[in-house]
Amino acid sequence: MKSQHTQSGRGSTAQTISQILFLILFGALTFLGRIQLWFGIFLIAGMGVSLIWGRLYCRDVCPMGTAMRLESWIFKKLGIKRLATPSWMRHWIWNVLFLLAFGAAMLLTKRAGTPFPMLPALLGLSVVVSLVFEEGLFHRRICPFGTILSVTSRISRRGMKIDSSSCIGCGACERVCTTSCITRESEESKIRVIAAQDCIVCKKCEAVCPVDAITYRT
Ligand code: SF4
Ligand code: SF4
Repeated sequence: MKSQHTQSGRGSTAQTISQILFLILFGALTFLGRIQLWFGIFLIAGMGVSLIWGRLYCRDVCPMGTAMRLESWIFKKLGIKRLATPSWMRHWIWNVLFLLAFGAAMLLTKRAGTPFPMLPALLGLSVVVSLVFEEGLFHRRICPFGTILSVTSRISRRGMKIDSSSCIGCGACERVCTTSCITRESEESKIRVIAAQDCIVCKKCEAVCPVDAITYRT
C-alpha cells in the first residue's frame, strides 16, 4: 500500500511537469500565431496515444486539463465544493451538440476569413465552467477533444479497472474522481465501476482505495 502511494506521488510529479511544459508550449504557439500546430499534437499525443493507453492527453498534455486542475486545487484549499453535473447534462447528446457547434464555428469563420480561435476559446470556457461546476462536466460533456478521445480510447485494452471481488463499496474512489466517471454497478449494489471512455487515468482513485482494488490494467 505504502509503495503504491509513493508511486502515485511520483506519477503526480511527472504529470505536473508534463502539464507545465505543454502549457508553456501552448502559450508559445499562441504567441507566435502558430496555434494550429496544436492539432498535430492532438493527433499524435491525443488520438494516437489513446488507441493504446487511454486518455493520457487529457491528463498530461491538454492546457484545459491543466487550468482546471489548478482551479480544483485552489477550490480544495479554500474548502469550496462546486456543483455536480446537472442531471439534464448527463446525456451523450450534449457531446454531439458541442462537437457539431465547435466544428461549425471553425468552418464558418474560416470561410469568412477570420478563423475562430478554437483552442483559446475552449481554454477560457473550461475555466469559466469549472468556476461553478465540477471538472467532470467539461471533461465529459463539453470538450470536443474529450469527446473524440472518448471514442478512440474505447479501442484501448489498457485502463483503470476495479476488481469487483475486492471492492468493499466504501465510495472513496467515487468522491475523488476527477471526471466523475465512477458509479455504482447497479442501484442495489455498492460495488463501483469505471466508465473507461471517460477516465483520464489520473489515478486519484487508486491512491485512496483502502483495499487496493483499483489498478491500471494492461
Ligand atoms: S483514474 Fe480514477 S479518479 Fe482518475 S479519472 Fe479515472 S476513474 Fe476517475
Ligand atoms: S475506494 Fe476501493 S473499496 Fe472503495 S468503492 Fe472504490 S474500489 Fe471499492
